[in-house]
Amino acid sequence: MHELPVINSILKVVLKHAVDNNVNKVIAVHLQVGELSDLEDKWMQQYFDHLAKGGIAEGARLKIERTPVVMKCSDCGDAYIADIKQDKALVCPECGSKKNSLISGREYFVKNLEAI
Ligand SMILES: [Zn+2]
Repeated sequence: MHELPVINSILKVVLKHAVDNNVNKVIAVHLQVGELSDLEDKWMQQYFDHLAKGGIAEGARLKIERTPVVMKCSDCGDAYIADIKQDKALVCPECGSKKNSLISGREYFVKNLEAI
């Protein structure tokens, strides 16, 4: 159920943007969601449909783009894109260190809207 508050805040951004731009109807919402986020596309759309009902964003499609996970090496400071689907520990491509911290991968934001 953690999608619900997220979608609520996304919808607020969408509606504010729509009002600012005198939009009559929102057709699609392009979202960028970090690969590490556990938000599921189907739930996001379902909650969006539910929350947007009766408003100008009703029926809008969510177009979800996953953005890669970026890590920063704790030893040499190099930033690199991490393949989180592999099992083995993440290794810095520059120096081979396994110490790292997350720069991005959990964030989500509204990239743009398609509207009439
Ligand atoms: Zn390194």
